[in-house]
Amino acid sequence: MKKIIIAIDGHSSTGKSTLAKQLAEHLDYIYIDSGAMYRAVTLYAIENGFISSDGFDKIRLIQSLSGLHIAFKKDSSNNVALFLNGQLVSSKIRTMEVSNMVSQVAALPEVRKCLVKEQRLMGLNKGLVMDGRDIGTVVFPDAELKIFMTASAKTRALRRFDELSNGDASIDYKTVYENIIFRDKKDSSRKNSPLLKAKDARVLDNSKLDQQAQFKLVLSWVNECKKETP
Ligand code: C5P
Repeated sequence: MKKIIIAIDGHSSTGKSTLAKQLAEHLDYIYIDSGAMYRAVTLYAIENGFISSDGFDKIRLIQSLSGLHIAFKKDSSNNVALFLNGQLVSSKIRTMEVSNMVSQVAALPEVRKCLVKEQRLMGLNKGLVMDGRDIGTVVFPDAELKIFMTASAKTRALRRFDELSNGDASIDYKTVYENIIFRDKKDSSRKNSPLLKAKDARVLDNSKLDQQAQFKLVLSWVNECKKETP
């Protein structure tokens, strides 16, 4: 059966990565979380002092991009883990410190150019599920299946809060909700590759859809697209 590219875009915390992982596992495709790549660049900027209480030194980050190496590898439990210059950073990229700065890092055209180039290489052999904000519009405008995911801000904030607060009393719902609203605004209004629904993307609003029903629906889309692919 022909392999295709599945591009999943949408707002923060709509469950893009959960769906993308499920699909990749079911289809035996590669899964790439492009948001994790932007988070890794942000972590790199923080760890190297380009982002600090003094502000954000964009020029130094841009000048250092050639020294940055991001790789996805399976860890000992067969989970896909993210490595930044050889260091395992899968958890470190999920902190609020990174979340608060990632949209500003992702708005830099030089950062986008560098990551989009890497992302396109990952799709050369098809058989790929990638999620993000510009996958169907910029990275793979010819992807056979494009999905645009959305859900109400409240539903998304509750989901992210549950994920983050697990045993951590320092996380409060209001901060998580505000970060979601802030990132929506930044991601949708930026000049470079704003979050937009591709014209030919299928909309998936999962505010009231459980994971099983969602997966069934998306698999039917996958099968339709595979049939249409020569
Ligand atoms: O998907 P996630 O919420 O982890 O992405 C973190 C941030 O990375 C987003 O808020 C957005 O600013 C940026 N991003 C992007 N383009 C992508 C994926 C993520 O600008 N393709």
